[in-house]
Amino acid sequence: MKVWGSYLPRIAGKPSGVVEEVAVPEKLYINLQRGGLIYAPVVKNGQDVKFGQALAEVQVEGGKLSLPSPVSGKVFIKEKEDLPSIIIIETDEPKAEEGVYDTSRLKHISREEIRSTLSSSGIWPFFWSSETGGIPSLDDERPRAIIVNFLLSEPFRARGEVILKRSWRIIMEGIKFLDRLLADYGTIEIILTAPHGPVARTIYKDLAGFACVNFHPVQPLYPVENNMLLKRMLRKVSSSFKKEDNVWVIDAQGVEAVGACLSGGIPLYQRVVAVGGPALSDPKHLSVRIGTPVKDLLKDSKSGDGTCVLRGGLFLGNPVDPDRDYVNFDDDAFFFLPEVKKREFLSFLRPGFNRTSYLPAFATVVTRGDDTQVSTSLRGEIRPCVACGLCESICPSGLLPQFLHRYLFNGDLDDAEKIGLNLCIGCNLCTYICPSKIELQKQFALAKEELKAEHEEAKAILARKNTHD
Ligand code: SF4
Ligand code: SF4
Repeated sequence: MKVWGSYLPRIAGKPSGVVEEVAVPEKLYINLQRGGLIYAPVVKNGQDVKFGQALAEVQVEGGKLSLPSPVSGKVFIKEKEDLPSIIIIETDEPKAEEGVYDTSRLKHISREEIRSTLSSSGIWPFFWSSETGGIPSLDDERPRAIIVNFLLSEPFRARGEVILKRSWRIIMEGIKFLDRLLADYGTIEIILTAPHGPVARTIYKDLAGFACVNFHPVQPLYPVENNMLLKRMLRKVSSSFKKEDNVWVIDAQGVEAVGACLSGGIPLYQRVVAVGGPALSDPKHLSVRIGTPVKDLLKDSKSGDGTCVLRGGLFLGNPVDPDRDYVNFDDDAFFFLPEVKKREFLSFLRPGFNRTSYLPAFATVVTRGDDTQVSTSLRGEIRPCVACGLCESICPSGLLPQFLHRYLFNGDLDDAEKIGLNLCIGCNLCTYICPSKIELQKQFALAKEELKAEHEEAKAILARKNTHD
């Protein structure tokens, strides 16, 4: 499968393939906001909870989702004004995790039982559905295909090959259970870099006799992991896929969690996070209990003074305060970026031996070195669009971001829609490479919201008119 446009800068601080275990701290902090949903506590202040017991729940289409406790201990609820509460767990002496769900009827587990077990174990939100544009409904939604994506290319999210190496057997179990969620004649589509390599061959052997499994070679260029892009790529390689077909996507850690839960009865309780970036002395992967303070991830590593920590990767990560933030249920990366407040005037035009760029003028094109200077600096003043066309050549959706920007700058939402505003997948690449430092992706995201609101209003007016007629 080929990704149009796309790009991968060579950034210093790539996490090593080693996964180190972080000790369970005395207190864990559970954020009750997950994937845009706010969960309500179902435990009381001072209550003792067991590993895997539901701490909070939220009602969604077709059922409810739960946040399981990642340890046994005593809970305290910290109310926050205008914000979701946080549950603090004073942890008991950590023990080896034991299964909490009944796995004795594994061979005969029904689709409904799989759904309810994955929703109460915190794992269902790892699926993305093209039908809902988010978490699949808990009603009997059945996909035509499930894409299992082992490739997270954004610098530096937890790498699929690291997760595979660590949890091969559990991941294979997980893939076998996915088969039961598919529509009749549904397929499992596996995204790997080398589809004929030894890893793909062994997966194929291990899964013989289960669902129809296909492998797809994809170059590790950002943003190959984007769910909408993966669905579009699948349609391009197989004409049997229609635009309206429902496709789900899940990544390596998601399918590992499915395997651990359905074959071992274990709820979601930990994450492997990649900690990397040019501001970190010892980039690596860490296995960490959900709710661990971010500052605990840094105990054995040095980060420079004035470091900006991003939750997520370089392109889509958001700044967090390591002293006040915790590892959440969906985290897979913390990126450490040197914080430079001053502007370096027109430095984007200067070639460098330690700075990569999408522009071929930089010396690292020849030296093949990593960018050690990527930082929070805007590198020069914000300028108007200089019509360089770089954003157009890099956009994986084949859009013309410079024209979208011009239309939106002039308040012309309709023309922006006509040239494909809604096809923007929000990857942020155009903003990253724009030499004028225009916040293109932010502008497009706001415009898409505005457009959606306009369409909904128009629909409501039409519905009212039809009722009157
Ligand atoms: S954010 Fe949108 S417009 Fe910009 S490169 Fe990505 S898909 Fe293209
Ligand atoms: S990359 Fe920036 S400056 Fe260049 S054409 Fe696009 S919006 Fe304009």
